[in-house]
Amino acid sequence: MSTAYDDILRRIATAEKDWRREGATRLIAVSKTFEAPAIEPLLAVGHRVFGENRVQEAKAKWPALRAAYPDIELHLIGPLQTNKLAEALALFDVIHTLDRPKLAAKLAQARDQGVALPRLFVQVNTGEEPQKAGVSPEELPEFLALCRQTYGLKPEGLMCIPPVEDVAAPHFALLHDLAKANDLAELSMGMSDDFEAAIAQGASYIRVGRALFGDRDTAL
Ligand SMILES: *Cc1c(COP(=O)(O)O)cnc(C)c1O
Repeated sequence: MSTAYDDILRRIATAEKDWRREGATRLIAVSKTFEAPAIEPLLAVGHRVFGENRVQEAKAKWPALRAAYPDIELHLIGPLQTNKLAEALALFDVIHTLDRPKLAAKLAQARDQGVALPRLFVQVNTGEEPQKAGVSPEELPEFLALCRQTYGLKPEGLMCIPPVEDVAAPHFALLHDLAKANDLAELSMGMSDDFEAAIAQGASYIRVGRALFGDRDTAL
Protein backbone atom coordinates (compact mmCIF):
# COMPACT_ATOMS: atom_id res chain seq x y z
CA MET A 1 0.00 0.00 0.00
CA SER A 2 2.50 2.62 1.03
CA THR A 3 4.53 1.68 -2.06
CA ALA A 4 1.59 2.63 -4.27
CA TYR A 5 1.13 5.73 -2.14
CA ASP A 6 4.78 6.74 -2.45
CA ASP A 7 4.59 6.16 -6.17
CA ILE A 8 1.55 8.46 -6.51
CA LEU A 9 3.20 11.14 -4.36
CA ARG A 10 6.28 10.97 -6.58
CA ARG A 11 4.19 11.26 -9.73
CA ILE A 12 2.31 14.25 -8.27
CA ALA A 13 5.61 15.93 -7.36
CA THR A 14 6.96 15.36 -10.88
CA ALA A 15 3.80 16.74 -12.52
CA GLU A 16 3.88 19.76 -10.20
CA LYS A 17 7.52 20.37 -11.05
CA ASP A 18 6.77 20.20 -14.77
CA TRP A 19 3.55 22.22 -14.78
CA ARG A 20 2.81 23.96 -11.50
CA ARG A 21 4.44 24.57 -8.18
CA GLU A 22 5.29 22.19 -5.38
CA GLY A 23 2.34 21.50 -3.09
CA ALA A 24 -0.28 22.92 -5.51
CA THR A 25 -2.24 19.65 -5.58
CA ARG A 26 -4.00 17.81 -2.81
CA LEU A 27 -4.55 14.08 -3.12
CA ILE A 28 -7.98 12.71 -2.22
CA ALA A 29 -7.59 8.98 -1.61
CA VAL A 30 -10.84 7.51 -2.95
CA SER A 31 -11.58 4.61 -0.62
CA LYS A 32 -15.05 3.63 -1.90
CA THR A 33 -15.68 -0.14 -1.68
CA PHE A 34 -12.61 -0.57 0.57
CA GLU A 35 -12.93 -1.29 4.27
CA ALA A 36 -10.91 -0.03 7.22
CA PRO A 37 -8.08 -2.61 6.92
CA ALA A 38 -7.28 -1.28 3.45
CA ILE A 39 -7.50 2.34 4.61
CA GLU A 40 -5.52 2.10 7.86
CA PRO A 41 -2.06 1.75 6.23
CA LEU A 42 -2.59 5.13 4.55
CA LEU A 43 -3.67 6.69 7.83
CA ALA A 44 -0.60 5.16 9.49
CA VAL A 45 1.74 6.93 7.06
CA GLY A 46 -0.01 10.23 7.72
CA HIS A 47 -2.51 10.59 4.89
CA ARG A 48 -5.70 12.29 6.04
CA VAL A 49 -7.73 13.29 2.96
CA PHE A 50 -10.21 10.70 1.71
CA GLY A 51 -13.13 10.54 -0.70
CA GLU A 52 -16.28 8.45 -0.75
CA ASN A 53 -19.09 8.42 -3.28
CA ARG A 54 -21.92 7.02 -1.14
CA VAL A 55 -23.28 8.54 2.02
CA GLN A 56 -24.43 5.24 3.55
CA GLU A 57 -21.12 3.53 2.93
CA ALA A 58 -19.21 6.46 4.37
CA LYS A 59 -21.45 6.49 7.43
CA ALA A 60 -20.72 2.84 8.11
CA LYS A 61 -16.98 3.25 7.73
CA TRP A 62 -15.67 6.65 8.79
CA PRO A 63 -16.99 7.51 12.27
CA ALA A 64 -14.84 4.74 13.80
CA LEU A 65 -11.77 5.78 11.80
CA ARG A 66 -12.34 9.40 12.79
CA ALA A 67 -12.45 8.48 16.45
CA ALA A 68 -8.88 7.21 16.03
CA TYR A 69 -7.73 9.99 13.66
CA PRO A 70 -9.74 13.15 14.41
CA ASP A 71 -8.00 15.23 11.74
CA ILE A 72 -9.36 13.20 8.82
CA GLU A 73 -10.80 15.35 6.01
CA LEU A 74 -13.63 13.57 4.22
CA HIS A 75 -14.86 14.49 0.73
CA LEU A 76 -18.17 13.45 -0.84
CA ILE A 77 -17.51 12.90 -4.54
CA GLY A 78 -20.70 11.06 -5.51
CA PRO A 79 -24.27 12.28 -6.13
CA LEU A 80 -26.14 13.62 -3.11
CA GLN A 81 -29.85 13.00 -2.74
CA THR A 82 -31.60 15.56 -0.62
CA ASN A 83 -33.04 12.86 1.67
CA LYS A 84 -29.43 12.00 2.64
CA LEU A 85 -28.41 15.61 3.12
CA ALA A 86 -28.51 15.70 6.92
CA GLU A 87 -26.34 12.58 7.14
CA ALA A 88 -23.95 13.97 4.56
CA LEU A 89 -23.64 17.26 6.42
CA ALA A 90 -22.76 15.39 9.59
CA LEU A 91 -20.03 13.36 7.86
CA PHE A 92 -18.32 15.33 5.14
CA ASP A 93 -15.94 18.29 5.22
CA VAL A 94 -16.25 18.94 1.49
CA ILE A 95 -19.05 18.18 -0.99
CA HIS A 96 -17.97 18.07 -4.64
CA THR A 97 -21.38 17.40 -6.14
CA LEU A 98 -23.54 20.49 -5.77
CA ASP A 99 -25.34 20.10 -9.08
CA ARG A 100 -28.92 21.37 -8.94
CA PRO A 101 -31.14 24.12 -7.54
CA LYS A 102 -33.01 21.83 -5.15
CA LEU A 103 -29.78 20.80 -3.45
CA ALA A 104 -28.67 24.43 -3.20
CA ALA A 105 -32.01 25.31 -1.60
CA LYS A 106 -31.74 22.48 0.93
CA LEU A 107 -28.16 23.44 1.81
CA ALA A 108 -29.26 27.02 2.44
CA GLN A 109 -32.16 25.78 4.54
CA ALA A 110 -29.83 23.66 6.67
CA ARG A 111 -27.50 26.61 7.16
CA ASP A 112 -30.42 28.81 8.17
CA GLN A 113 -31.30 26.20 10.77
CA GLY A 114 -27.82 26.51 12.23
CA VAL A 115 -25.98 23.65 10.55
CA ALA A 116 -22.37 24.43 9.62
CA LEU A 117 -22.02 23.77 5.91
CA PRO A 118 -19.10 21.88 4.43
CA ARG A 119 -16.97 23.42 1.70
CA LEU A 120 -18.74 23.19 -1.65
CA PHE A 121 -17.77 22.40 -5.24
CA VAL A 122 -20.17 22.59 -8.17
CA GLN A 123 -20.12 19.55 -10.44
CA VAL A 124 -19.99 20.42 -14.13
CA ASN A 125 -21.04 17.94 -16.80
CA THR A 126 -18.27 18.97 -19.19
CA GLY A 127 -19.14 16.21 -21.66
CA GLU A 128 -22.86 17.07 -21.52
CA GLU A 129 -23.65 13.40 -21.05
CA PRO A 130 -27.38 12.88 -20.47
CA GLN A 131 -26.88 10.19 -17.84
CA LYS A 132 -24.29 12.11 -15.87
CA ALA A 133 -24.88 14.53 -13.00
CA GLY A 134 -23.60 18.05 -13.14
CA VAL A 135 -24.54 21.47 -14.42
CA SER A 136 -23.89 22.02 -18.12
CA PRO A 137 -21.16 24.55 -18.98
CA GLU A 138 -23.80 26.92 -20.44
CA GLU A 139 -25.96 26.79 -17.33
CA LEU A 140 -23.07 27.28 -14.93
CA PRO A 141 -23.15 31.11 -14.64
CA GLU A 142 -26.87 31.08 -13.90
CA PHE A 143 -26.52 28.24 -11.40
CA LEU A 144 -23.66 30.01 -9.62
CA ALA A 145 -25.70 33.21 -9.46
CA LEU A 146 -28.54 31.26 -7.88
CA CYS A 147 -26.20 29.67 -5.34
CA ARG A 148 -24.51 32.93 -4.47
CA GLN A 149 -27.27 35.50 -4.67
CA THR A 150 -30.45 33.61 -3.90
CA TYR A 151 -29.05 31.15 -1.39
CA GLY A 152 -25.93 32.86 -0.07
CA LEU A 153 -23.78 29.81 -0.71
CA LYS A 154 -20.09 30.20 -1.46
CA PRO A 155 -18.89 27.44 -3.75
CA GLU A 156 -15.09 27.33 -3.80
CA GLY A 157 -14.54 25.46 -7.01
CA LEU A 158 -15.65 23.15 -9.78
CA MET A 159 -15.52 19.39 -10.19
CA CYS A 160 -15.82 17.22 -13.30
CA ILE A 161 -15.74 13.58 -14.39
CA PRO A 162 -14.88 13.51 -18.11
CA PRO A 163 -16.64 10.98 -20.35
CA VAL A 164 -14.78 7.66 -20.14
CA GLU A 165 -14.32 7.45 -23.90
CA ASP A 166 -12.84 10.95 -24.27
CA VAL A 167 -9.32 12.23 -23.90
CA ALA A 168 -9.56 13.95 -20.52
CA ALA A 169 -7.27 16.95 -20.99
CA PRO A 170 -9.72 19.12 -23.00
CA HIS A 171 -12.35 18.60 -20.27
CA PHE A 172 -9.83 19.66 -17.62
CA ALA A 173 -8.93 22.71 -19.70
CA LEU A 174 -12.63 23.59 -20.03
CA LEU A 175 -13.16 23.24 -16.27
CA HIS A 176 -10.14 25.44 -15.65
CA ASP A 177 -11.52 28.14 -17.98
CA LEU A 178 -14.98 27.94 -16.42
CA ALA A 179 -13.52 28.33 -12.92
CA LYS A 180 -11.48 31.31 -13.99
CA ALA A 181 -14.41 32.98 -15.78
CA ASN A 182 -16.59 32.49 -12.71
CA ASP A 183 -14.11 33.55 -10.07
CA LEU A 184 -13.60 30.15 -8.46
CA ALA A 185 -10.22 29.14 -7.07
CA GLU A 186 -10.41 25.35 -6.72
CA LEU A 187 -10.52 22.56 -9.29
CA SER A 188 -11.41 18.95 -8.43
CA MET A 189 -10.37 16.86 -11.41
CA GLY A 190 -8.20 13.90 -12.35
CA MET A 191 -8.46 10.24 -11.36
CA SER A 192 -6.10 7.24 -11.46
CA ASP A 193 -5.62 7.27 -15.23
CA ASP A 194 -5.33 10.98 -15.85
CA PHE A 195 -4.32 12.88 -12.72
CA GLU A 196 -1.07 14.14 -14.23
CA ALA A 197 -3.02 15.73 -17.11
CA ALA A 198 -5.32 17.30 -14.50
CA ILE A 199 -2.38 18.74 -12.59
CA ALA A 200 -1.05 20.19 -15.83
CA GLN A 201 -4.41 21.97 -16.26
CA GLY A 202 -4.45 23.35 -12.74
CA ALA A 203 -6.15 20.72 -10.54
CA SER A 204 -6.05 21.65 -6.87
CA TYR A 205 -7.66 18.34 -5.82
CA ILE A 206 -7.14 15.04 -7.61
CA ARG A 207 -9.30 12.01 -6.75
CA VAL A 208 -7.37 8.75 -6.93
CA GLY A 209 -8.81 5.34 -6.10
CA ARG A 210 -7.57 2.32 -8.05
CA ALA A 211 -3.99 3.49 -8.34
CA LEU A 212 -3.81 3.58 -4.54
CA PHE A 213 -6.06 0.75 -3.39
CA GLY A 214 -6.09 -1.60 -6.38
CA ASP A 215 -9.00 -2.56 -8.59
CA ARG A 216 -12.49 -2.49 -7.14
CA ASP A 217 -14.77 -5.54 -7.31
CA THR A 218 -17.57 -3.59 -8.90
CA ALA A 219 -17.50 -0.71 -11.31
CA LEU A 220 -18.68 2.11 -9.08
C1 LIG B 1 -14.36 6.35 -8.09
C2 LIG B 1 -14.16 7.79 -8.34
C3 LIG B 1 -12.87 8.32 -8.46
C4 LIG B 1 -11.62 7.49 -8.41
O1 LIG B 1 -11.49 6.77 -9.60
P1 LIG B 1 -10.23 5.83 -9.86
O2 LIG B 1 -10.33 5.53 -11.30
O3 LIG B 1 -10.41 4.64 -8.98
O4 LIG B 1 -9.02 6.60 -9.50
C5 LIG B 1 -12.76 9.69 -8.66
N1 LIG B 1 -13.84 10.49 -8.73
C6 LIG B 1 -15.09 10.01 -8.60
C7 LIG B 1 -16.23 10.95 -8.69
C8 LIG B 1 -15.29 8.65 -8.40
O5 LIG B 1 -16.56 8.18 -8.29
